[in-house]
Amino acid sequence: MRMTSGFIPTLRETPAEAEIPSHKLMLRAGFLRRAAAGIYTYLPLSHRVLMKIMQIIREEMNAAGGQEILLPIVQPAELWHATGRWVDYGEEMFRLKDRHGREFCLGPTHEEIITSLVQGEVSSYRQLPLLLYQIQNKYRDEIRPRFGIMRGREFIMKDLYSFDVDQRGLDESYQKMYQAYSNVFARCGLETKAVLADSGAIGGSLTHEFVVLADCGEAIIVYCANCDYAANVEKAECRPLPREDGEPMPLEKVSTPGQKTIEQVASFLGIAPARLIKTLLYKSDDEVIAALVRGDHELNEVKLARIVGTLQLAPADEETILRVTGAPAGYCGPVGLQNVRLIVDHAVAALVNGVAGANEEDAHLLNVNMGRDYEPDLVTDIRLVKAGDPCPKCGTALLGARGIEVGQIFQLGTKYSEALRAYYLDEKGEQKPIVMGCYGIGVTRTMASIIEQHHDEHGIIWPMSVAPFHVHIVSLGDKELALAEELYEQLTSSGVEVLLDDRDERPGVKFKDADLIGIPIRITIGAKSLAEGKVELKLRSGEWEGKLAPDEVCGKVRELIASKGA
Ligand code: ATP
Ligand code: MG
Repeated sequence: MRMTSGFIPTLRETPAEAEIPSHKLMLRAGFLRRAAAGIYTYLPLSHRVLMKIMQIIREEMNAAGGQEILLPIVQPAELWHATGRWVDYGEEMFRLKDRHGREFCLGPTHEEIITSLVQGEVSSYRQLPLLLYQIQNKYRDEIRPRFGIMRGREFIMKDLYSFDVDQRGLDESYQKMYQAYSNVFARCGLETKAVLADSGAIGGSLTHEFVVLADCGEAIIVYCANCDYAANVEKAECRPLPREDGEPMPLEKVSTPGQKTIEQVASFLGIAPARLIKTLLYKSDDEVIAALVRGDHELNEVKLARIVGTLQLAPADEETILRVTGAPAGYCGPVGLQNVRLIVDHAVAALVNGVAGANEEDAHLLNVNMGRDYEPDLVTDIRLVKAGDPCPKCGTALLGARGIEVGQIFQLGTKYSEALRAYYLDEKGEQKPIVMGCYGIGVTRTMASIIEQHHDEHGIIWPMSVAPFHVHIVSLGDKELALAEELYEQLTSSGVEVLLDDRDERPGVKFKDADLIGIPIRITIGAKSLAEGKVELKLRSGEWEGKLAPDEVCGKVRELIASKGA
Protein backbone atom coordinates (compact mmCIF):
# COMPACT_ATOMS: atom_id res chain seq x y z
CA MET A 1 0.00 0.00 0.00
CA ARG A 2 1.20 3.49 -0.82
CA MET A 3 0.69 6.06 1.87
CA THR A 4 -0.40 8.68 -0.66
CA SER A 5 -3.43 6.55 -1.51
CA GLY A 6 -3.84 4.76 1.84
CA PHE A 7 -6.38 5.74 4.49
CA ILE A 8 -4.03 6.16 7.45
CA PRO A 9 -5.04 9.32 9.29
CA THR A 10 -2.26 9.71 11.87
CA LEU A 11 -2.52 12.39 14.53
CA ARG A 12 0.18 14.54 16.13
CA GLU A 13 -1.68 15.00 19.39
CA THR A 14 -3.17 12.35 21.64
CA PRO A 15 -6.98 12.76 21.80
CA ALA A 16 -8.18 13.52 25.32
CA GLU A 17 -10.53 10.51 25.33
CA ALA A 18 -7.61 8.04 25.61
CA GLU A 19 -6.01 6.98 28.90
CA ILE A 20 -3.91 3.89 28.24
CA PRO A 21 -1.07 3.38 25.73
CA SER A 22 -2.91 1.01 23.38
CA HIS A 23 -5.88 3.33 23.04
CA LYS A 24 -3.74 6.45 22.58
CA LEU A 25 -1.51 4.76 20.03
CA MET A 26 -4.33 3.24 18.01
CA LEU A 27 -5.99 6.64 17.70
CA ARG A 28 -2.76 8.47 16.90
CA ALA A 29 -1.45 5.88 14.44
CA GLY A 30 -4.70 5.92 12.47
CA PHE A 31 -6.00 2.49 13.45
CA LEU A 32 -9.21 3.42 15.19
CA ARG A 33 -11.97 6.02 15.49
CA ARG A 34 -14.75 6.25 18.03
CA ALA A 35 -18.36 6.18 16.83
CA ALA A 36 -20.04 6.21 20.27
CA ALA A 37 -19.06 5.18 23.80
CA GLY A 38 -17.50 1.72 23.49
CA ILE A 39 -18.27 1.50 19.77
CA TYR A 40 -15.49 1.86 17.23
CA THR A 41 -14.61 1.87 13.55
CA TYR A 42 -11.54 -0.13 12.57
CA LEU A 43 -9.53 1.58 9.83
CA PRO A 44 -7.41 -0.30 7.27
CA LEU A 45 -4.34 -0.80 9.46
CA SER A 46 -6.26 -2.34 12.34
CA HIS A 47 -8.42 -4.33 9.97
CA ARG A 48 -5.26 -5.95 8.66
CA VAL A 49 -4.11 -6.77 12.20
CA LEU A 50 -7.51 -8.19 13.13
CA MET A 51 -7.52 -10.39 10.03
CA LYS A 52 -4.16 -11.81 11.05
CA ILE A 53 -5.22 -12.49 14.61
CA MET A 54 -8.37 -14.18 13.29
CA GLN A 55 -6.31 -16.27 10.89
CA ILE A 56 -4.09 -17.50 13.73
CA ILE A 57 -7.19 -18.31 15.76
CA ARG A 58 -8.77 -20.16 12.83
CA GLU A 59 -5.69 -22.24 12.24
CA GLU A 60 -5.48 -23.26 15.89
CA MET A 61 -9.20 -23.93 16.27
CA ASN A 62 -9.26 -26.02 13.08
CA ALA A 63 -6.14 -27.92 14.16
CA ALA A 64 -7.92 -28.78 17.42
CA GLY A 65 -10.89 -30.14 15.48
CA GLY A 66 -13.10 -27.05 15.49
CA GLN A 67 -15.52 -26.29 12.66
CA GLU A 68 -16.34 -22.70 11.85
CA ILE A 69 -19.94 -21.53 11.60
CA LEU A 70 -21.73 -18.21 11.87
CA LEU A 71 -24.57 -17.80 14.35
CA PRO A 72 -27.10 -14.97 14.30
CA ILE A 73 -26.43 -11.78 16.21
CA VAL A 74 -30.14 -11.11 16.63
CA GLN A 75 -31.51 -13.77 18.95
CA PRO A 76 -35.08 -14.50 20.07
CA ALA A 77 -35.91 -13.91 23.73
CA GLU A 78 -37.55 -17.34 24.19
CA LEU A 79 -34.23 -19.17 24.21
CA TRP A 80 -32.95 -16.84 26.90
CA HIS A 81 -36.11 -17.31 28.95
CA ALA A 82 -35.51 -21.06 28.85
CA THR A 83 -32.16 -20.72 30.63
CA GLY A 84 -33.25 -17.89 32.89
CA ARG A 85 -30.68 -15.54 31.44
CA TRP A 86 -33.20 -13.10 29.91
CA VAL A 87 -33.50 -11.89 33.51
CA ASP A 88 -30.06 -12.80 34.87
CA TYR A 89 -28.14 -10.98 32.15
CA GLY A 90 -29.67 -7.73 33.35
CA GLU A 91 -28.83 -4.37 31.91
CA GLU A 92 -25.76 -5.54 30.05
CA MET A 93 -28.01 -7.03 27.38
CA PHE A 94 -29.03 -4.90 24.40
CA ARG A 95 -32.72 -5.68 23.84
CA LEU A 96 -35.00 -4.84 20.93
CA LYS A 97 -38.45 -5.56 19.54
CA ASP A 98 -39.44 -6.34 15.98
CA ARG A 99 -42.43 -4.70 14.26
CA HIS A 100 -44.74 -7.34 15.76
CA GLY A 101 -43.57 -6.58 19.26
CA ARG A 102 -41.56 -9.80 19.61
CA GLU A 103 -38.52 -9.50 21.84
CA PHE A 104 -34.95 -10.10 20.74
CA CYS A 105 -31.48 -9.30 21.97
CA LEU A 106 -28.16 -8.61 20.31
CA GLY A 107 -26.07 -11.62 21.29
CA PRO A 108 -23.78 -10.86 24.25
CA THR A 109 -22.71 -14.53 23.97
CA HIS A 110 -24.10 -17.55 22.13
CA GLU A 111 -24.66 -20.53 24.46
CA GLU A 112 -28.44 -20.46 24.08
CA ILE A 113 -28.60 -20.28 20.33
CA ILE A 114 -25.93 -22.89 19.68
CA THR A 115 -27.37 -25.31 22.21
CA SER A 116 -30.73 -24.99 20.55
CA LEU A 117 -29.09 -25.63 17.16
CA VAL A 118 -27.39 -28.77 18.44
CA GLN A 119 -30.58 -29.87 20.20
CA GLY A 120 -32.32 -29.91 16.85
CA GLU A 121 -29.57 -31.72 14.94
CA VAL A 122 -27.83 -34.12 17.31
CA SER A 123 -29.60 -37.16 18.69
CA SER A 124 -26.98 -39.89 18.94
CA TYR A 125 -23.63 -40.41 20.64
CA ARG A 126 -22.29 -41.16 17.14
CA GLN A 127 -22.59 -37.46 16.26
CA LEU A 128 -20.41 -36.41 19.20
CA PRO A 129 -18.00 -34.88 20.09
CA LEU A 130 -18.53 -31.62 18.23
CA LEU A 131 -16.48 -28.46 18.43
CA LEU A 132 -18.20 -25.51 16.74
CA TYR A 133 -16.94 -21.95 16.66
CA GLN A 134 -17.48 -18.55 15.15
CA ILE A 135 -15.71 -15.22 14.99
CA GLN A 136 -18.23 -12.45 15.31
CA ASN A 137 -19.41 -9.27 16.93
CA LYS A 138 -20.76 -9.40 20.45
CA TYR A 139 -22.90 -6.75 22.13
CA ARG A 140 -22.74 -5.90 25.81
CA ASP A 141 -24.03 -2.67 27.24
CA GLU A 142 -21.11 -2.46 29.66
CA ILE A 143 -21.67 -0.21 32.65
CA ARG A 144 -18.22 1.29 32.14
CA PRO A 145 -16.96 1.00 28.56
CA ARG A 146 -13.29 1.85 28.99
CA PHE A 147 -9.91 2.06 27.42
CA GLY A 148 -11.10 2.06 23.82
CA ILE A 149 -11.60 -1.40 22.42
CA MET A 150 -10.32 -3.01 25.61
CA ARG A 151 -13.82 -2.87 27.06
CA GLY A 152 -16.18 -2.02 24.26
CA ARG A 153 -19.95 -2.37 23.96
CA GLU A 154 -19.54 -3.86 20.50
CA PHE A 155 -16.49 -6.09 20.12
CA ILE A 156 -15.27 -9.10 18.20
CA MET A 157 -15.05 -12.47 19.91
CA LYS A 158 -14.10 -15.93 18.86
CA ASP A 159 -16.38 -18.31 20.71
CA LEU A 160 -16.18 -22.07 20.50
CA TYR A 161 -18.60 -24.53 22.09
CA SER A 162 -17.78 -28.16 22.76
CA PHE A 163 -20.39 -30.92 22.91
CA ASP A 164 -19.38 -34.24 24.47
CA VAL A 165 -21.05 -37.39 25.72
CA ASP A 166 -19.58 -37.23 29.22
CA GLN A 167 -17.24 -35.45 31.64
CA ARG A 168 -14.26 -37.36 30.28
CA GLY A 169 -14.99 -36.09 26.81
CA LEU A 170 -15.37 -32.57 28.17
CA ASP A 171 -12.03 -32.87 29.98
CA GLU A 172 -10.41 -33.76 26.66
CA SER A 173 -12.06 -30.91 24.77
CA TYR A 174 -11.08 -28.53 27.56
CA GLN A 175 -7.49 -29.69 27.45
CA LYS A 176 -7.37 -29.26 23.67
CA MET A 177 -8.68 -25.72 23.98
CA TYR A 178 -6.29 -24.91 26.81
CA GLN A 179 -3.44 -25.89 24.51
CA ALA A 180 -4.94 -24.14 21.47
CA TYR A 181 -5.33 -20.93 23.49
CA SER A 182 -1.74 -21.10 24.66
CA ASN A 183 -0.70 -21.49 21.01
CA VAL A 184 -2.88 -18.62 19.79
CA PHE A 185 -1.53 -16.13 22.30
CA ALA A 186 2.08 -17.22 21.86
CA ARG A 187 1.74 -16.86 18.09
CA CYS A 188 0.29 -13.36 18.56
CA GLY A 189 3.44 -12.43 20.46
CA LEU A 190 1.61 -12.26 23.78
CA GLU A 191 2.90 -13.47 27.08
CA THR A 192 -0.09 -14.78 29.01
CA LYS A 193 -0.77 -16.58 32.25
CA ALA A 194 -3.57 -19.11 32.56
CA VAL A 195 -5.26 -18.50 35.90
CA LEU A 196 -8.03 -20.35 37.69
CA ALA A 197 -11.14 -18.21 37.74
CA ASP A 198 -14.65 -18.05 39.11
CA SER A 199 -17.33 -19.15 36.67
CA GLY A 200 -19.82 -16.58 37.97
CA ALA A 201 -23.20 -16.27 36.29
CA ILE A 202 -22.42 -18.48 33.33
CA GLY A 203 -22.57 -21.57 35.53
CA GLY A 204 -20.28 -24.60 35.43
CA SER A 205 -17.21 -25.43 37.42
CA LEU A 206 -13.67 -25.51 36.06
CA THR A 207 -12.60 -22.36 34.27
CA HIS A 208 -9.34 -20.64 33.36
CA GLU A 209 -8.73 -17.09 32.23
CA PHE A 210 -5.83 -16.25 29.97
CA VAL A 211 -4.39 -13.05 31.30
CA VAL A 212 -1.85 -10.62 29.84
CA LEU A 213 0.07 -9.04 32.71
CA ALA A 214 -0.35 -5.25 32.43
CA ASP A 215 -0.87 -2.41 34.90
CA CYS A 216 -4.00 -1.19 33.14
CA GLY A 217 -5.60 -4.64 33.48
CA GLU A 218 -8.85 -4.99 35.39
CA ALA A 219 -8.20 -8.58 36.44
CA ILE A 220 -6.34 -8.95 39.72
CA ILE A 221 -4.47 -12.19 40.03
CA VAL A 222 -2.14 -13.98 42.40
CA TYR A 223 0.43 -16.55 41.40
CA CYS A 224 3.08 -18.67 43.00
CA ALA A 225 6.72 -18.34 41.98
CA ASN A 226 7.43 -21.82 43.33
CA CYS A 227 4.65 -23.99 41.86
CA ASP A 228 2.18 -23.55 38.99
CA TYR A 229 -0.67 -22.14 41.08
CA ALA A 230 -2.21 -19.01 39.54
CA ALA A 231 -5.70 -17.68 40.15
CA ASN A 232 -7.91 -14.66 39.81
CA VAL A 233 -8.32 -13.15 43.30
CA GLU A 234 -12.07 -13.75 43.04
CA LYS A 235 -11.29 -17.43 42.93
CA ALA A 236 -7.99 -17.78 44.83
CA GLU A 237 -8.30 -19.94 47.91
CA CYS A 238 -7.01 -19.15 51.38
CA ARG A 239 -5.69 -21.87 53.60
CA PRO A 240 -7.49 -22.40 56.92
CA LEU A 241 -5.47 -21.16 59.89
CA PRO A 242 -4.86 -23.24 63.03
CA ARG A 243 -6.78 -22.04 66.09
CA GLU A 244 -4.76 -19.60 68.18
CA ASP A 245 -3.29 -20.63 71.51
CA GLY A 246 -4.63 -19.09 74.68
CA GLU A 247 -7.57 -19.43 77.05
CA PRO A 248 -10.88 -17.74 76.35
CA MET A 249 -11.39 -14.88 78.79
CA PRO A 250 -14.72 -13.53 80.05
CA LEU A 251 -16.78 -11.53 77.58
CA GLU A 252 -16.56 -7.83 78.37
CA LYS A 253 -18.47 -4.87 76.99
CA VAL A 254 -16.51 -1.65 76.46
CA SER A 255 -17.65 1.80 75.47
CA THR A 256 -16.42 2.96 72.07
CA PRO A 257 -18.23 6.26 71.46
CA GLY A 258 -18.22 7.29 67.79
CA GLN A 259 -15.73 4.56 66.86
CA LYS A 260 -17.13 2.78 63.81
CA THR A 261 -14.47 1.75 61.37
CA ILE A 262 -11.92 -1.00 61.95
CA GLU A 263 -9.12 1.59 62.07
CA GLN A 264 -11.00 3.77 64.57
CA VAL A 265 -11.85 0.90 66.91
CA ALA A 266 -8.36 -0.64 66.69
CA SER A 267 -6.61 2.61 67.50
CA PHE A 268 -9.14 3.58 70.20
CA LEU A 269 -8.65 0.24 71.97
CA GLY A 270 -4.92 0.12 71.20
CA ILE A 271 -5.08 -3.25 69.44
CA ALA A 272 -4.14 -4.56 66.00
CA PRO A 273 -6.89 -4.68 63.34
CA ALA A 274 -6.17 -8.42 63.10
CA ARG A 275 -7.79 -8.84 66.57
CA LEU A 276 -11.08 -7.46 65.29
CA ILE A 277 -14.01 -9.32 63.79
CA LYS A 278 -15.60 -7.45 60.90
CA THR A 279 -19.30 -8.30 60.61
CA LEU A 280 -20.72 -7.44 57.20
CA LEU A 281 -24.45 -7.73 56.59
CA TYR A 282 -25.84 -8.66 53.19
CA LYS A 283 -29.30 -9.15 51.78
CA SER A 284 -30.13 -11.93 49.38
CA ASP A 285 -33.74 -12.59 48.36
CA ASP A 286 -35.51 -12.77 51.77
CA GLU A 287 -32.51 -13.65 53.84
CA VAL A 288 -30.02 -11.55 55.81
CA ILE A 289 -26.48 -12.88 55.90
CA ALA A 290 -23.70 -11.87 58.24
CA ALA A 291 -20.25 -12.48 56.80
CA LEU A 292 -17.45 -12.45 59.37
CA VAL A 293 -13.90 -11.68 58.32
CA ARG A 294 -10.90 -10.59 60.33
CA GLY A 295 -10.38 -6.83 60.65
CA ASP A 296 -7.26 -6.83 58.47
CA HIS A 297 -8.91 -8.94 55.75
CA GLU A 298 -11.31 -8.10 52.93
CA LEU A 299 -14.46 -10.04 52.19
CA ASN A 300 -14.57 -11.76 48.79
CA GLU A 301 -18.13 -11.08 47.63
CA VAL A 302 -17.83 -13.52 44.74
CA LYS A 303 -17.04 -16.39 47.11
CA LEU A 304 -19.85 -15.33 49.42
CA ALA A 305 -22.38 -15.16 46.57
CA ARG A 306 -21.35 -18.61 45.40
CA ILE A 307 -21.77 -20.05 48.91
CA VAL A 308 -25.13 -18.40 49.36
CA GLY A 309 -26.07 -19.56 45.86
CA THR A 310 -27.36 -16.28 44.53
CA LEU A 311 -26.64 -13.71 41.88
CA GLN A 312 -28.37 -10.98 43.87
CA LEU A 313 -26.23 -10.23 46.86
CA ALA A 314 -26.30 -6.64 48.05
CA PRO A 315 -24.95 -4.98 51.20
CA ALA A 316 -27.77 -4.49 53.69
CA ASP A 317 -29.18 -0.97 53.89
CA GLU A 318 -29.17 1.19 57.04
CA GLU A 319 -32.73 0.26 57.88
CA THR A 320 -32.08 -3.49 57.71
CA ILE A 321 -28.94 -3.10 59.84
CA LEU A 322 -30.88 -1.20 62.48
CA ARG A 323 -33.73 -3.72 62.45
CA VAL A 324 -31.48 -6.80 62.64
CA THR A 325 -28.82 -5.57 65.08
CA GLY A 326 -30.68 -2.87 67.01
CA ALA A 327 -27.79 -0.50 66.35
CA PRO A 328 -26.57 1.74 63.53
CA ALA A 329 -23.91 0.53 61.11
CA GLY A 330 -20.46 0.23 62.68
CA TYR A 331 -21.48 -1.66 65.83
CA CYS A 332 -22.58 -4.94 64.35
CA GLY A 333 -21.21 -8.19 65.80
CA PRO A 334 -22.09 -11.90 65.89
CA VAL A 335 -23.06 -12.18 69.55
CA GLY A 336 -26.82 -12.36 70.00
CA LEU A 337 -27.70 -11.85 66.34
CA GLN A 338 -31.10 -13.37 65.57
CA ASN A 339 -32.57 -14.58 62.27
CA VAL A 340 -29.34 -14.03 60.43
CA ARG A 341 -27.25 -16.65 58.64
CA LEU A 342 -23.72 -16.46 60.09
CA ILE A 343 -20.98 -17.30 57.62
CA VAL A 344 -17.58 -17.20 59.27
CA ASP A 345 -14.20 -17.03 57.62
CA HIS A 346 -11.52 -19.53 58.71
CA ALA A 347 -9.33 -16.74 60.07
CA VAL A 348 -12.14 -15.52 62.35
CA ALA A 349 -12.82 -19.06 63.54
CA ALA A 350 -9.16 -19.30 64.52
CA LEU A 351 -9.32 -16.20 66.76
CA VAL A 352 -9.23 -16.56 70.52
CA ASN A 353 -10.54 -13.50 72.38
CA GLY A 354 -11.44 -11.41 69.38
CA VAL A 355 -13.16 -8.02 69.42
CA ALA A 356 -16.52 -7.40 67.77
CA GLY A 357 -19.35 -4.89 67.69
CA ALA A 358 -21.86 -5.27 70.55
CA ASN A 359 -24.99 -4.66 68.42
CA GLU A 360 -25.46 -1.54 70.54
CA GLU A 361 -24.56 2.02 69.63
CA ASP A 362 -21.12 3.13 70.87
CA ALA A 363 -20.17 -0.30 72.28
CA HIS A 364 -17.91 -3.24 71.42
CA LEU A 365 -17.27 -6.62 73.03
CA LEU A 366 -13.87 -7.91 74.09
CA ASN A 367 -12.95 -11.62 74.31
CA VAL A 368 -15.44 -12.86 71.76
CA ASN A 369 -15.03 -16.58 71.09
CA MET A 370 -16.79 -18.68 68.49
CA GLY A 371 -18.63 -21.68 69.92
CA ARG A 372 -19.01 -20.06 73.33
CA ASP A 373 -20.43 -16.65 72.41
CA TYR A 374 -21.92 -17.35 69.00
CA GLU A 375 -22.63 -20.36 66.78
CA PRO A 376 -21.69 -20.16 63.12
CA ASP A 377 -23.95 -21.57 60.42
CA LEU A 378 -20.89 -22.21 58.32
CA VAL A 379 -17.13 -21.81 58.67
CA THR A 380 -15.47 -21.50 55.30
CA ASP A 381 -13.19 -19.46 53.07
CA ILE A 382 -14.82 -16.11 52.25
CA ARG A 383 -11.92 -13.69 52.30
CA LEU A 384 -10.03 -12.05 49.51
CA VAL A 385 -6.54 -13.40 49.08
CA LYS A 386 -3.71 -10.87 49.00
CA ALA A 387 -0.11 -10.86 47.85
CA GLY A 388 2.04 -12.45 50.54
CA ASP A 389 -0.60 -14.98 51.62
CA PRO A 390 0.59 -18.59 51.45
CA CYS A 391 0.03 -20.46 48.20
CA PRO A 392 -2.85 -22.94 48.78
CA LYS A 393 -0.85 -25.61 46.97
CA CYS A 394 2.69 -25.27 48.33
CA GLY A 395 2.66 -22.57 51.02
CA THR A 396 5.10 -20.16 49.32
CA ALA A 397 4.15 -16.49 49.58
CA LEU A 398 1.91 -15.54 46.64
CA LEU A 399 2.77 -12.69 44.27
CA GLY A 400 0.13 -10.28 43.05
CA ALA A 401 -0.32 -8.71 39.60
CA ARG A 402 -2.84 -6.96 37.41
CA GLY A 403 -3.76 -8.30 34.04
CA ILE A 404 -6.02 -8.09 31.00
CA GLU A 405 -8.26 -11.09 30.43
CA VAL A 406 -7.89 -11.93 26.74
CA GLY A 407 -9.57 -15.32 26.82
CA GLN A 408 -11.54 -17.62 29.06
CA ILE A 409 -12.40 -21.31 28.86
CA PHE A 410 -15.25 -22.88 30.84
CA GLN A 411 -16.52 -26.33 31.64
CA LEU A 412 -20.26 -25.73 31.51
CA GLY A 413 -21.46 -29.26 32.18
CA THR A 414 -25.17 -29.77 31.45
CA LYS A 415 -26.66 -26.44 32.56
CA TYR A 416 -27.54 -25.31 29.02
CA SER A 417 -28.22 -28.73 27.51
CA GLU A 418 -30.71 -29.54 30.26
CA ALA A 419 -32.41 -26.15 30.09
CA LEU A 420 -32.77 -26.42 26.30
CA ARG A 421 -33.31 -30.18 26.21
CA ALA A 422 -30.21 -31.02 24.18
CA TYR A 423 -30.12 -34.79 24.81
CA TYR A 424 -28.54 -37.68 22.95
CA LEU A 425 -29.01 -41.44 23.04
CA ASP A 426 -25.98 -43.41 24.24
CA GLU A 427 -24.89 -46.91 23.07
CA LYS A 428 -27.51 -48.50 25.30
CA GLY A 429 -30.26 -46.26 23.98
CA GLU A 430 -30.39 -44.25 27.19
CA GLN A 431 -31.17 -40.55 26.95
CA LYS A 432 -28.51 -38.24 28.41
CA PRO A 433 -27.81 -34.52 28.38
CA ILE A 434 -24.90 -33.37 26.22
CA VAL A 435 -21.93 -32.19 28.28
CA MET A 436 -20.77 -28.75 27.18
CA GLY A 437 -17.85 -26.36 27.35
CA CYS A 438 -17.41 -22.84 26.01
CA TYR A 439 -14.30 -20.98 25.09
CA GLY A 440 -13.93 -17.28 24.24
CA ILE A 441 -11.17 -15.05 22.93
CA GLY A 442 -11.63 -11.31 22.73
CA VAL A 443 -10.20 -10.64 19.28
CA THR A 444 -10.32 -6.86 19.47
CA ARG A 445 -9.12 -6.91 23.08
CA THR A 446 -6.25 -9.14 21.99
CA MET A 447 -5.17 -6.49 19.49
CA ALA A 448 -5.14 -3.83 22.20
CA SER A 449 -3.29 -6.15 24.58
CA ILE A 450 -0.58 -6.81 22.02
CA ILE A 451 0.05 -3.07 21.89
CA GLU A 452 0.11 -2.87 25.70
CA GLN A 453 2.91 -5.44 25.68
CA HIS A 454 4.70 -4.10 22.59
CA HIS A 455 5.24 -0.35 22.48
CA ASP A 456 7.69 2.35 23.51
CA GLU A 457 7.44 6.13 23.93
CA HIS A 458 7.48 6.59 20.13
CA GLY A 459 4.79 4.14 19.17
CA ILE A 460 3.75 0.58 18.53
CA ILE A 461 6.23 -2.28 17.93
CA TRP A 462 4.18 -4.96 16.18
CA PRO A 463 5.22 -8.60 16.47
CA MET A 464 5.80 -9.84 12.91
CA SER A 465 2.96 -12.38 13.06
CA VAL A 466 0.22 -9.76 13.48
CA ALA A 467 1.83 -6.63 12.00
CA PRO A 468 -0.34 -4.74 9.50
CA PHE A 469 2.60 -4.87 7.06
CA HIS A 470 5.98 -6.58 7.29
CA VAL A 471 8.00 -3.74 5.78
CA HIS A 472 7.77 0.03 5.81
CA ILE A 473 9.77 1.71 3.04
CA VAL A 474 10.58 5.30 3.82
CA SER A 475 11.71 7.19 0.78
CA LEU A 476 13.32 10.48 1.74
CA GLY A 477 13.19 12.40 -1.52
CA ASP A 478 12.16 12.53 -5.16
CA LYS A 479 15.41 11.07 -6.39
CA GLU A 480 15.10 8.10 -4.06
CA LEU A 481 11.53 7.35 -4.98
CA ALA A 482 12.41 5.39 -8.12
CA LEU A 483 14.45 2.88 -6.10
CA ALA A 484 11.76 2.79 -3.43
CA GLU A 485 9.16 1.92 -6.05
CA GLU A 486 11.42 -0.75 -7.45
CA LEU A 487 11.94 -2.39 -4.04
CA TYR A 488 8.24 -2.06 -3.34
CA GLU A 489 7.39 -3.98 -6.52
CA GLN A 490 10.06 -6.58 -5.89
CA LEU A 491 9.05 -7.28 -2.30
CA THR A 492 5.33 -7.16 -2.96
CA SER A 493 5.57 -9.60 -5.84
CA SER A 494 7.46 -12.03 -3.61
CA GLY A 495 4.59 -12.01 -1.10
CA VAL A 496 5.99 -9.49 1.39
CA GLU A 497 3.47 -6.95 2.70
CA VAL A 498 4.85 -3.47 2.21
CA LEU A 499 3.75 0.02 3.16
CA LEU A 500 5.52 2.64 1.06
CA ASP A 501 5.83 6.16 2.39
CA ASP A 502 5.81 7.99 -0.93
CA ARG A 503 4.43 11.21 0.55
CA ASP A 504 5.98 14.58 -0.03
CA GLU A 505 6.78 15.11 3.65
CA ARG A 506 9.85 16.03 5.67
CA PRO A 507 12.02 13.09 6.83
CA GLY A 508 11.17 13.90 10.44
CA VAL A 509 7.46 13.51 9.79
CA LYS A 510 7.97 10.23 7.97
CA PHE A 511 10.17 8.75 10.71
CA LYS A 512 7.73 9.82 13.41
CA ASP A 513 4.85 8.15 11.60
CA ALA A 514 6.89 5.01 10.96
CA ASP A 515 7.74 4.76 14.66
CA LEU A 516 4.14 5.40 15.59
CA ILE A 517 2.64 2.79 13.23
CA GLY A 518 5.27 0.29 14.31
CA ILE A 519 5.81 -1.94 11.28
CA PRO A 520 8.60 -4.38 12.19
CA ILE A 521 11.09 -3.82 9.33
CA ARG A 522 11.97 -0.37 8.09
CA ILE A 523 13.88 0.35 4.91
CA THR A 524 15.12 3.89 4.65
CA ILE A 525 16.22 5.19 1.27
CA GLY A 526 18.10 8.47 1.61
CA ALA A 527 20.73 10.37 -0.37
CA LYS A 528 23.54 9.74 2.11
CA SER A 529 23.60 5.96 2.14
CA LEU A 530 22.56 5.79 -1.48
CA ALA A 531 25.81 7.62 -2.34
CA GLU A 532 27.56 4.50 -0.98
CA GLY A 533 25.18 2.34 -3.01
CA LYS A 534 23.31 1.21 0.13
CA VAL A 535 19.91 1.44 1.80
CA GLU A 536 19.32 1.26 5.55
CA LEU A 537 17.39 -1.59 7.10
CA LYS A 538 16.34 -1.75 10.70
CA LEU A 539 13.97 -3.52 13.01
CA ARG A 540 11.46 -1.32 14.85
CA SER A 541 12.29 -3.32 17.98
CA GLY A 542 15.89 -2.11 17.78
CA GLU A 543 17.18 -5.68 17.73
CA TRP A 544 19.02 -5.29 14.41
CA GLU A 545 20.10 -2.69 11.89
CA GLY A 546 22.43 -2.57 8.92
CA LYS A 547 23.17 -1.23 5.45
CA LEU A 548 22.62 -3.34 2.39
CA ALA A 549 22.98 -3.08 -1.36
CA PRO A 550 19.50 -2.86 -2.96
CA ASP A 551 19.80 -6.31 -4.50
CA GLU A 552 20.43 -7.86 -1.06
CA VAL A 553 17.28 -6.36 0.44
CA CYS A 554 14.76 -8.94 -0.65
CA GLY A 555 16.73 -11.88 0.71
CA LYS A 556 17.40 -10.15 4.03
CA VAL A 557 13.78 -9.14 4.45
CA ARG A 558 12.59 -12.67 3.87
CA GLU A 559 15.13 -13.98 6.34
CA LEU A 560 14.00 -11.47 8.99
CA ILE A 561 10.34 -12.31 8.44
CA ALA A 562 11.01 -16.03 8.73
CA SER A 563 13.12 -15.60 11.87
CA LYS A 564 10.27 -13.64 13.49
CA GLY A 565 7.81 -16.40 12.85
CA ALA A 566 5.37 -14.87 10.37
P1 ATP B 1 -14.71 -9.27 31.58
O1 ATP B 1 -14.55 -10.01 32.88
O2 ATP B 1 -13.47 -8.56 31.13
O3 ATP B 1 -15.94 -8.44 31.51
P2 ATP B 1 -16.03 -11.55 30.59
O4 ATP B 1 -15.63 -12.54 31.59
O5 ATP B 1 -17.35 -10.94 30.66
O6 ATP B 1 -14.92 -10.41 30.48
P3 ATP B 1 -16.26 -13.57 28.55
O7 ATP B 1 -17.72 -13.64 28.58
O8 ATP B 1 -15.47 -14.66 29.15
O9 ATP B 1 -15.79 -12.17 29.13
O10 ATP B 1 -15.82 -13.29 27.05
C1 ATP B 1 -14.69 -13.88 26.42
C2 ATP B 1 -13.66 -12.84 26.06
O11 ATP B 1 -14.24 -11.73 25.38
C3 ATP B 1 -12.98 -12.22 27.24
O12 ATP B 1 -11.94 -13.02 27.70
C4 ATP B 1 -12.48 -10.90 26.68
O13 ATP B 1 -11.25 -11.09 26.01
C5 ATP B 1 -13.51 -10.55 25.65
N1 ATP B 1 -14.43 -9.50 26.15
C6 ATP B 1 -15.39 -9.62 27.07
N2 ATP B 1 -16.03 -8.46 27.26
C7 ATP B 1 -15.44 -7.57 26.41
C8 ATP B 1 -15.67 -6.19 26.12
N3 ATP B 1 -16.63 -5.51 26.73
N4 ATP B 1 -14.87 -5.60 25.19
C9 ATP B 1 -13.91 -6.29 24.55
N5 ATP B 1 -13.66 -7.59 24.78
C10 ATP B 1 -14.41 -8.23 25.70
MG1 MG C 1 -14.47 -13.88 31.50
